[in-house]
Amino acid sequence: MSSVRNVIVLGATGSIGRSTLNVIRRHPGRFRPLALAAASNASGLDELALEFDPDFVVLAHEPPAGFKPRWSGEWRVGEHEVVRAAATAAADTVVNAVVGFAGLEATLAALTAGKRLALANKESLVAGGALVLDAWRGGTGELLPVDSEHSAIFQCLQSRPVSEVRRIILTASGGPFRSHSTRALQEVTRADALAHPIWDMGDKVTVDSATLANKALEVIEAHLLFGVGYDRIEVLVHPSSVVHSMVEFRDGSTIAQLSNPSMEVPIQYALSFPERLENEFVPLDLVGGGPLSFEDPRRQDFPLLELGVDAGRQGGVMPAVFNAANEVAVAAFLDGALDFQGISAIVGDVLIQTAPVPVGSLERLREIDARARLLARIAIQARSSGTSHDTGCENSGTVAAPDLTNKQPTE
Ligand code: NDP
Ligand code: MG
Repeated sequence: MSSVRNVIVLGATGSIGRSTLNVIRRHPGRFRPLALAAASNASGLDELALEFDPDFVVLAHEPPAGFKPRWSGEWRVGEHEVVRAAATAAADTVVNAVVGFAGLEATLAALTAGKRLALANKESLVAGGALVLDAWRGGTGELLPVDSEHSAIFQCLQSRPVSEVRRIILTASGGPFRSHSTRALQEVTRADALAHPIWDMGDKVTVDSATLANKALEVIEAHLLFGVGYDRIEVLVHPSSVVHSMVEFRDGSTIAQLSNPSMEVPIQYALSFPERLENEFVPLDLVGGGPLSFEDPRRQDFPLLELGVDAGRQGGVMPAVFNAANEVAVAAFLDGALDFQGISAIVGDVLIQTAPVPVGSLERLREIDARARLLARIAIQARSSGTSHDTGCENSGTVAAPDLTNKQPTE
Protein backbone atom coordinates (compact mmCIF):
# COMPACT_ATOMS: atom_id res chain seq x y z
CA MET A 1 0.00 0.00 0.00
CA SER A 2 1.69 3.19 -1.08
CA SER A 3 -0.89 5.85 -1.98
CA VAL A 4 -2.85 7.82 0.59
CA ARG A 5 -6.13 6.14 1.51
CA ASN A 6 -9.20 8.32 1.84
CA VAL A 7 -11.04 7.47 5.02
CA ILE A 8 -14.57 8.37 6.08
CA VAL A 9 -14.91 8.36 9.88
CA LEU A 10 -18.49 7.91 11.07
CA GLY A 11 -18.77 8.54 14.80
CA ALA A 12 -15.67 10.75 14.67
CA THR A 13 -16.40 12.45 18.01
CA GLY A 14 -16.70 9.18 19.95
CA SER A 15 -14.16 6.93 21.59
CA ILE A 16 -13.40 4.78 18.53
CA GLY A 17 -13.65 7.78 16.20
CA ARG A 18 -11.05 9.69 18.19
CA SER A 19 -8.78 6.64 18.39
CA THR A 20 -9.11 6.32 14.60
CA LEU A 21 -8.05 9.93 14.21
CA ASN A 22 -5.05 9.25 16.49
CA VAL A 23 -4.00 6.48 14.11
CA ILE A 24 -4.45 8.83 11.15
CA ARG A 25 -2.41 11.55 12.92
CA ARG A 26 0.43 9.05 13.25
CA HIS A 27 0.34 8.15 9.57
CA PRO A 28 -0.45 11.34 7.65
CA GLY A 29 1.25 9.98 4.55
CA ARG A 30 -0.98 6.91 4.50
CA PHE A 31 -4.46 8.03 5.51
CA ARG A 32 -6.50 11.16 5.03
CA PRO A 33 -9.90 11.80 6.63
CA LEU A 34 -12.10 12.59 3.64
CA ALA A 35 -15.19 13.17 5.78
CA LEU A 36 -16.11 13.12 9.45
CA ALA A 37 -19.58 12.44 10.85
CA ALA A 38 -21.22 12.64 14.27
CA ALA A 39 -24.73 12.62 15.69
CA SER A 40 -25.13 16.03 17.35
CA ASN A 41 -21.79 17.09 18.82
CA ALA A 42 -21.40 20.06 16.48
CA SER A 43 -18.61 21.80 18.39
CA GLY A 44 -16.59 18.57 18.70
CA LEU A 45 -16.94 17.99 14.97
CA ASP A 46 -16.03 21.60 14.25
CA GLU A 47 -12.81 21.24 16.21
CA LEU A 48 -11.85 18.06 14.37
CA ALA A 49 -12.67 19.65 11.03
CA LEU A 50 -10.40 22.60 11.84
CA GLU A 51 -7.55 20.20 12.44
CA PHE A 52 -8.09 17.76 9.57
CA ASP A 53 -9.81 19.94 6.95
CA PRO A 54 -11.84 17.12 5.38
CA ASP A 55 -13.84 17.50 2.16
CA PHE A 56 -17.03 17.73 4.23
CA VAL A 57 -18.53 16.94 7.63
CA VAL A 58 -21.91 15.48 8.51
CA LEU A 59 -24.18 15.88 11.51
CA ALA A 60 -27.00 13.34 11.75
CA HIS A 61 -29.11 15.80 13.75
CA GLU A 62 -29.61 19.55 13.50
CA PRO A 63 -26.93 21.52 15.37
CA PRO A 64 -28.07 23.48 18.43
CA ALA A 65 -29.69 26.84 17.71
CA GLY A 66 -27.11 29.58 17.33
CA PHE A 67 -24.25 27.20 16.56
CA LYS A 68 -21.63 28.99 14.45
CA PRO A 69 -18.93 26.74 13.05
CA ARG A 70 -15.37 28.03 13.01
CA TRP A 71 -14.49 25.64 10.16
CA SER A 72 -15.73 27.14 6.91
CA GLY A 73 -15.98 23.95 4.84
CA GLU A 74 -19.08 22.01 3.79
CA TRP A 75 -21.51 20.95 6.50
CA ARG A 76 -24.20 18.40 5.67
CA VAL A 77 -27.06 17.58 8.02
CA GLY A 78 -29.36 14.57 8.27
CA GLU A 79 -29.19 10.85 8.93
CA HIS A 80 -29.47 10.17 5.20
CA GLU A 81 -26.34 12.28 4.71
CA VAL A 82 -24.43 9.97 7.06
CA VAL A 83 -25.51 7.02 4.91
CA ARG A 84 -24.64 8.90 1.72
CA ALA A 85 -21.20 9.74 3.12
CA ALA A 86 -20.52 6.01 3.57
CA ALA A 87 -20.81 5.57 -0.19
CA THR A 88 -18.70 8.61 -1.22
CA ALA A 89 -17.08 7.80 -4.56
CA ALA A 90 -13.61 9.07 -3.59
CA ALA A 91 -13.49 7.08 -0.32
CA ASP A 92 -11.42 3.91 0.04
CA THR A 93 -12.28 3.06 3.62
CA VAL A 94 -15.26 3.72 5.89
CA VAL A 95 -14.74 3.43 9.62
CA ASN A 96 -18.16 2.83 11.13
CA ALA A 97 -17.83 3.89 14.77
CA VAL A 98 -21.46 4.93 15.19
CA VAL A 99 -23.05 3.41 18.28
CA GLY A 100 -26.11 1.16 17.99
CA PHE A 101 -28.63 0.20 15.33
CA ALA A 102 -28.35 3.75 13.95
CA GLY A 103 -25.22 2.60 12.10
CA LEU A 104 -26.90 -0.17 10.09
CA GLU A 105 -27.64 1.71 6.89
CA ALA A 106 -24.13 3.15 6.74
CA THR A 107 -22.73 -0.38 7.06
CA LEU A 108 -24.93 -1.54 4.20
CA ALA A 109 -24.11 1.53 2.09
CA ALA A 110 -20.34 1.15 2.52
CA LEU A 111 -20.39 -2.53 1.58
CA THR A 112 -22.76 -2.02 -1.33
CA ALA A 113 -20.51 0.75 -2.65
CA GLY A 114 -17.53 -1.64 -2.54
CA LYS A 115 -15.61 0.14 0.22
CA ARG A 116 -13.36 -1.31 2.84
CA LEU A 117 -15.55 -1.22 5.94
CA ALA A 118 -13.61 -1.06 9.20
CA LEU A 119 -16.45 -2.08 11.46
CA ALA A 120 -16.61 -1.08 15.11
CA ASN A 121 -20.40 -0.74 15.08
CA LYS A 122 -21.08 -4.40 15.96
CA GLU A 123 -24.79 -3.69 16.53
CA SER A 124 -25.25 -3.14 12.79
CA LEU A 125 -23.85 -6.57 11.97
CA VAL A 126 -25.71 -8.32 14.77
CA ALA A 127 -29.06 -6.72 13.96
CA GLY A 128 -28.61 -6.67 10.19
CA GLY A 129 -27.45 -10.31 10.07
CA ALA A 130 -28.20 -11.78 6.65
CA LEU A 131 -28.75 -8.32 5.13
CA VAL A 132 -25.20 -7.28 5.99
CA LEU A 133 -23.72 -10.63 4.96
CA ASP A 134 -25.49 -10.40 1.59
CA ALA A 135 -24.19 -6.87 1.01
CA TRP A 136 -20.69 -8.05 1.92
CA ARG A 137 -20.50 -11.43 0.21
CA GLY A 138 -22.53 -10.36 -2.80
CA GLY A 139 -20.35 -7.39 -3.69
CA THR A 140 -16.79 -6.13 -3.80
CA GLY A 141 -16.75 -4.51 -0.36
CA GLU A 142 -14.32 -5.71 2.31
CA LEU A 143 -15.27 -6.08 5.98
CA LEU A 144 -12.42 -5.68 8.46
CA PRO A 145 -13.29 -6.04 12.15
CA VAL A 146 -12.27 -3.28 14.53
CA ASP A 147 -13.60 -4.99 17.65
CA SER A 148 -10.39 -6.15 19.32
CA GLU A 149 -11.53 -9.77 19.75
CA HIS A 150 -12.59 -10.10 16.13
CA SER A 151 -9.46 -8.43 14.86
CA ALA A 152 -7.56 -11.02 16.92
CA ILE A 153 -9.58 -13.92 15.50
CA PHE A 154 -9.17 -12.55 11.98
CA GLN A 155 -5.41 -12.44 12.50
CA CYS A 156 -5.27 -15.92 14.08
CA LEU A 157 -7.31 -17.52 11.31
CA GLN A 158 -4.90 -16.34 8.64
CA SER A 159 -7.46 -17.23 5.96
CA ARG A 160 -7.58 -20.91 6.93
CA PRO A 161 -10.98 -22.50 6.26
CA VAL A 162 -13.49 -22.83 9.07
CA SER A 163 -13.34 -26.63 8.64
CA GLU A 164 -9.88 -26.52 10.24
CA VAL A 165 -11.12 -24.62 13.30
CA ARG A 166 -12.00 -26.61 16.40
CA ARG A 167 -13.10 -23.64 18.43
CA ILE A 168 -12.82 -19.91 18.82
CA ILE A 169 -12.02 -18.68 22.30
CA LEU A 170 -13.39 -15.19 22.70
CA THR A 171 -11.90 -13.39 25.67
CA ALA A 172 -13.80 -10.97 27.91
CA SER A 173 -12.41 -8.55 30.47
CA GLY A 174 -15.29 -9.42 32.79
CA GLY A 175 -16.08 -5.73 33.26
CA PRO A 176 -16.20 -3.81 36.55
CA PHE A 177 -18.42 -6.37 38.34
CA ARG A 178 -16.45 -9.52 37.62
CA SER A 179 -15.82 -10.11 41.31
CA HIS A 180 -19.03 -8.65 42.72
CA SER A 181 -21.17 -11.06 44.73
CA THR A 182 -24.67 -11.85 43.51
CA ARG A 183 -25.97 -9.64 46.30
CA ALA A 184 -23.63 -6.73 45.57
CA LEU A 185 -24.80 -6.72 41.96
CA GLN A 186 -28.23 -5.63 43.18
CA GLU A 187 -26.84 -2.36 44.41
CA VAL A 188 -24.49 -1.22 41.67
CA THR A 189 -24.96 2.28 40.29
CA ARG A 190 -24.54 4.00 36.95
CA ALA A 191 -21.18 5.37 38.09
CA ASP A 192 -20.02 1.88 39.14
CA ALA A 193 -21.01 0.47 35.76
CA LEU A 194 -19.17 3.20 33.89
CA ALA A 195 -15.92 2.64 35.80
CA HIS A 196 -14.42 -0.01 33.53
CA PRO A 197 -11.15 -1.38 34.92
CA ILE A 198 -9.34 -1.57 31.55
CA TRP A 199 -11.10 0.08 28.65
CA ASP A 200 -12.09 3.75 28.29
CA MET A 201 -15.06 3.54 25.93
CA GLY A 202 -18.40 5.16 25.15
CA ASP A 203 -21.12 4.76 27.80
CA LYS A 204 -23.26 2.25 25.92
CA VAL A 205 -20.53 -0.29 25.24
CA THR A 206 -19.16 0.23 28.78
CA VAL A 207 -22.51 -0.79 30.27
CA ASP A 208 -22.69 -3.70 27.80
CA SER A 209 -19.30 -4.76 29.05
CA ALA A 210 -20.54 -4.65 32.66
CA THR A 211 -23.62 -6.80 31.88
CA LEU A 212 -21.75 -9.11 29.43
CA ALA A 213 -24.30 -8.16 26.75
CA ASN A 214 -21.25 -6.96 24.85
CA LYS A 215 -19.84 -10.48 24.87
CA ALA A 216 -23.14 -11.90 23.63
CA LEU A 217 -23.12 -9.37 20.76
CA GLU A 218 -19.53 -10.42 20.07
CA VAL A 219 -20.35 -14.13 19.96
CA ILE A 220 -23.00 -13.36 17.33
CA GLU A 221 -20.55 -11.05 15.57
CA ALA A 222 -17.94 -13.83 15.45
CA HIS A 223 -20.50 -16.33 14.17
CA LEU A 224 -21.49 -13.99 11.35
CA LEU A 225 -18.00 -12.80 10.44
CA PHE A 226 -16.24 -16.14 10.45
CA GLY A 227 -19.03 -18.63 9.79
CA VAL A 228 -18.18 -20.71 12.86
CA GLY A 229 -21.09 -22.48 14.59
CA TYR A 230 -22.21 -21.31 18.02
CA ASP A 231 -21.14 -24.63 19.56
CA ARG A 232 -17.58 -23.83 18.61
CA ILE A 233 -17.42 -20.33 20.10
CA GLU A 234 -16.43 -20.20 23.76
CA VAL A 235 -16.19 -17.21 26.06
CA LEU A 236 -13.46 -16.99 28.69
CA VAL A 237 -12.94 -14.13 31.11
CA HIS A 238 -9.40 -12.79 30.92
CA PRO A 239 -9.24 -9.75 33.22
CA SER A 240 -6.03 -8.14 31.95
CA SER A 241 -7.27 -8.03 28.32
CA VAL A 242 -3.87 -8.82 26.85
CA VAL A 243 -4.90 -11.94 24.91
CA HIS A 244 -7.56 -10.51 22.61
CA SER A 245 -8.88 -13.90 21.51
CA MET A 246 -7.64 -17.28 20.30
CA VAL A 247 -8.33 -19.86 17.63
CA GLU A 248 -7.82 -23.55 18.35
CA PHE A 249 -7.28 -25.56 15.18
CA ARG A 250 -8.14 -29.21 14.63
CA ASP A 251 -4.49 -30.29 14.93
CA GLY A 252 -4.44 -29.06 18.54
CA SER A 253 -2.57 -25.82 17.84
CA THR A 254 -3.98 -22.70 19.47
CA ILE A 255 -3.02 -19.33 18.03
CA ALA A 256 -3.58 -16.17 20.06
CA GLN A 257 -3.13 -12.47 19.35
CA LEU A 258 -1.70 -10.37 22.17
CA SER A 259 -1.07 -6.68 22.70
CA ASN A 260 -1.48 -4.14 25.43
CA PRO A 261 -5.13 -3.13 25.55
CA SER A 262 -5.49 -0.23 23.11
CA MET A 263 -8.15 0.03 20.43
CA GLU A 264 -5.62 1.81 18.24
CA VAL A 265 -3.97 -1.54 17.50
CA PRO A 266 -7.01 -3.19 15.83
CA ILE A 267 -8.09 0.12 14.26
CA GLN A 268 -4.69 0.59 12.65
CA TYR A 269 -4.70 -3.00 11.40
CA ALA A 270 -8.16 -2.60 9.86
CA LEU A 271 -6.92 0.51 8.05
CA SER A 272 -3.57 -0.87 6.90
CA PHE A 273 -4.38 -4.58 6.30
CA PRO A 274 -2.59 -6.59 5.05
CA GLU A 275 0.34 -4.34 5.88
CA ARG A 276 1.52 -3.80 9.45
CA LEU A 277 2.65 -0.25 10.06
CA GLU A 278 5.31 0.96 12.46
CA ASN A 279 4.07 2.82 15.52
CA GLU A 280 4.99 3.82 19.05
CA PHE A 281 2.49 1.64 20.92
CA VAL A 282 3.91 0.41 24.21
CA PRO A 283 5.32 -3.09 23.64
CA LEU A 284 4.07 -5.98 25.71
CA ASP A 285 5.97 -6.66 28.94
CA LEU A 286 5.43 -10.37 29.43
CA VAL A 287 7.74 -10.64 32.47
CA GLY A 288 6.59 -7.53 34.33
CA GLY A 289 2.99 -7.73 33.20
CA GLY A 290 1.94 -10.47 35.58
CA PRO A 291 0.41 -13.86 34.81
CA LEU A 292 -2.21 -14.33 32.10
CA SER A 293 -5.27 -15.73 33.86
CA PHE A 294 -8.55 -17.11 32.50
CA GLU A 295 -11.83 -18.08 34.12
CA ASP A 296 -15.33 -19.10 33.10
CA PRO A 297 -17.93 -16.32 32.95
CA ARG A 298 -20.55 -16.30 35.76
CA ARG A 299 -23.50 -16.97 33.51
CA GLN A 300 -26.13 -16.97 36.26
CA ASP A 301 -25.14 -13.55 37.53
CA PHE A 302 -24.79 -12.07 34.04
CA PRO A 303 -27.78 -13.57 32.21
CA LEU A 304 -27.45 -11.35 29.14
CA LEU A 305 -24.61 -13.53 27.89
CA GLU A 306 -26.86 -16.59 27.56
CA LEU A 307 -29.88 -14.58 26.45
CA GLY A 308 -27.90 -13.03 23.61
CA VAL A 309 -26.21 -16.23 22.49
CA ASP A 310 -29.58 -18.02 22.55
CA ALA A 311 -31.00 -15.22 20.40
CA GLY A 312 -28.11 -15.81 18.00
CA ARG A 313 -28.79 -19.55 17.90
CA GLN A 314 -32.47 -18.96 17.21
CA GLY A 315 -31.50 -16.67 14.34
CA GLY A 316 -33.92 -14.69 12.20
CA VAL A 317 -35.00 -11.48 13.89
CA MET A 318 -33.92 -12.57 17.37
CA PRO A 319 -30.44 -10.96 17.43
CA ALA A 320 -32.00 -7.69 16.22
CA VAL A 321 -34.63 -7.91 18.97
CA PHE A 322 -31.99 -8.69 21.58
CA ASN A 323 -30.01 -5.69 20.39
CA ALA A 324 -32.95 -3.28 20.27
CA ALA A 325 -34.25 -4.23 23.72
CA ASN A 326 -30.76 -3.97 25.12
CA GLU A 327 -30.20 -0.51 23.60
CA VAL A 328 -33.42 0.77 25.17
CA ALA A 329 -32.71 -0.87 28.54
CA VAL A 330 -29.15 0.48 28.66
CA ALA A 331 -30.37 3.99 27.80
CA ALA A 332 -32.94 3.74 30.61
CA PHE A 333 -30.25 2.53 33.02
CA LEU A 334 -28.02 5.46 32.03
CA ASP A 335 -30.97 7.83 32.55
CA GLY A 336 -31.59 6.44 36.03
CA ALA A 337 -34.93 4.92 34.99
CA LEU A 338 -33.87 1.28 35.38
CA ASP A 339 -31.73 -0.65 37.85
CA PHE A 340 -28.72 -2.66 36.67
CA GLN A 341 -30.41 -6.03 36.93
CA GLY A 342 -33.46 -4.61 35.21
CA ILE A 343 -31.47 -4.52 31.96
CA SER A 344 -31.44 -8.31 31.58
CA ALA A 345 -35.02 -8.58 32.89
CA ILE A 346 -36.28 -6.20 30.20
CA VAL A 347 -34.34 -7.88 27.40
CA GLY A 348 -35.59 -11.32 28.49
CA ASP A 349 -39.13 -9.98 28.65
CA VAL A 350 -39.00 -8.67 25.09
CA LEU A 351 -37.36 -11.80 23.70
CA ILE A 352 -40.05 -14.14 25.01
CA GLN A 353 -42.66 -12.09 23.19
CA THR A 354 -40.96 -12.56 19.85
CA ALA A 355 -40.84 -15.44 17.39
CA PRO A 356 -37.70 -16.16 15.35
CA VAL A 357 -39.11 -15.31 11.95
CA PRO A 358 -36.70 -14.42 9.12
CA VAL A 359 -35.52 -10.82 8.84
CA GLY A 360 -36.70 -10.31 5.26
CA SER A 361 -36.12 -6.77 4.05
CA LEU A 362 -34.49 -3.72 5.62
CA GLU A 363 -37.93 -2.17 5.97
CA ARG A 364 -39.16 -5.21 7.86
CA LEU A 365 -36.10 -5.11 10.07
CA ARG A 366 -36.84 -1.49 10.94
CA GLU A 367 -40.34 -2.55 12.01
CA ILE A 368 -38.93 -5.38 14.10
CA ASP A 369 -36.47 -3.00 15.74
CA ALA A 370 -39.19 -0.42 16.45
CA ARG A 371 -41.51 -3.03 17.92
CA ALA A 372 -38.80 -4.40 20.22
CA ARG A 373 -38.01 -0.87 21.41
CA LEU A 374 -41.65 -0.25 22.16
CA LEU A 375 -42.01 -3.51 24.07
CA ALA A 376 -38.89 -2.65 26.04
CA ARG A 377 -40.24 0.78 26.97
CA ILE A 378 -43.53 -0.75 28.10
CA ALA A 379 -41.68 -3.31 30.21
CA ILE A 380 -39.50 -0.59 31.77
CA GLN A 381 -42.55 1.47 32.64
CA ALA A 382 -44.23 -1.54 34.23
CA ARG A 383 -41.10 -2.37 36.22
CA SER A 384 -40.71 1.17 37.51
CA SER A 385 -44.38 1.41 38.54
CA GLY A 386 -44.12 -2.02 40.16
CA THR A 387 -47.12 -3.35 38.26
CA SER A 388 -47.16 -6.97 37.28
CA HIS A 389 -47.81 -6.81 33.61
CA ASP A 390 -48.37 -8.81 30.54
CA THR A 391 -46.28 -6.85 28.11
CA GLY A 392 -47.83 -8.65 25.16
CA CYS A 393 -48.44 -5.58 23.07
CA GLU A 394 -51.66 -6.98 21.68
CA ASN A 395 -53.06 -6.75 25.20
CA SER A 396 -51.90 -3.26 25.95
CA GLY A 397 -54.26 -1.71 23.45
CA THR A 398 -51.68 0.98 22.69
CA VAL A 399 -49.23 -0.68 20.37
CA ALA A 400 -49.51 -1.24 16.67
CA ALA A 401 -46.91 -3.93 16.16
CA PRO A 402 -46.20 -6.30 13.29
CA ASP A 403 -47.47 -9.80 13.94
CA LEU A 404 -44.55 -11.98 14.90
CA THR A 405 -46.57 -14.81 16.37
CA ASN A 406 -46.09 -17.06 13.38
CA LYS A 407 -43.35 -19.15 14.98
CA GLN A 408 -41.13 -20.57 12.29
CA PRO A 409 -37.58 -21.78 12.71
CA THR A 410 -35.06 -19.93 10.58
CA GLU A 411 -31.40 -20.11 9.61
P1 NDP B 1 -19.24 6.64 21.65
O1 NDP B 1 -20.52 6.80 22.34
O2 NDP B 1 -17.99 7.08 22.32
O3 NDP B 1 -19.31 7.37 20.23
C1 NDP B 1 -20.37 7.18 19.35
C2 NDP B 1 -20.16 8.05 18.14
O4 NDP B 1 -21.22 7.82 17.21
C3 NDP B 1 -20.19 9.55 18.45
O5 NDP B 1 -19.30 10.19 17.59
C4 NDP B 1 -21.63 9.94 18.08
O6 NDP B 1 -21.77 11.32 17.79
C5 NDP B 1 -21.79 9.08 16.86
N1 NDP B 1 -23.16 8.80 16.42
C6 NDP B 1 -24.18 8.29 17.13
N2 NDP B 1 -25.28 8.16 16.36
C7 NDP B 1 -24.92 8.59 15.13
C8 NDP B 1 -25.59 8.71 13.90
N3 NDP B 1 -26.88 8.36 13.76
N4 NDP B 1 -24.91 9.18 12.83
C9 NDP B 1 -23.62 9.56 12.94
N5 NDP B 1 -22.92 9.48 14.09
C10 NDP B 1 -23.58 8.99 15.17
O7 NDP B 1 -19.13 5.10 21.25
P2 NDP B 1 -17.84 4.20 21.07
O8 NDP B 1 -16.83 4.90 20.22
O9 NDP B 1 -17.41 3.66 22.36
O10 NDP B 1 -18.44 2.96 20.26
C11 NDP B 1 -18.76 3.03 18.89
C12 NDP B 1 -19.03 1.62 18.40
O11 NDP B 1 -17.83 0.86 18.51
C13 NDP B 1 -20.09 0.87 19.22
O12 NDP B 1 -20.81 0.03 18.36
C14 NDP B 1 -19.25 0.01 20.17
O13 NDP B 1 -19.91 -1.17 20.55
C15 NDP B 1 -18.05 -0.31 19.29
N6 NDP B 1 -16.84 -0.62 20.02
C16 NDP B 1 -16.30 0.32 20.86
C17 NDP B 1 -15.12 0.06 21.55
C18 NDP B 1 -14.47 1.11 22.37
O14 NDP B 1 -13.35 0.90 22.86
N7 NDP B 1 -15.07 2.27 22.56
C19 NDP B 1 -14.48 -1.26 21.46
C20 NDP B 1 -15.10 -2.14 20.51
C21 NDP B 1 -16.25 -1.82 19.84
P3 NDP B 1 -22.03 12.41 18.96
O15 NDP B 1 -20.70 12.62 19.62
O16 NDP B 1 -22.48 13.61 18.23
O17 NDP B 1 -23.06 11.83 19.88
MG1 MG C 1 -14.70 -6.12 21.93
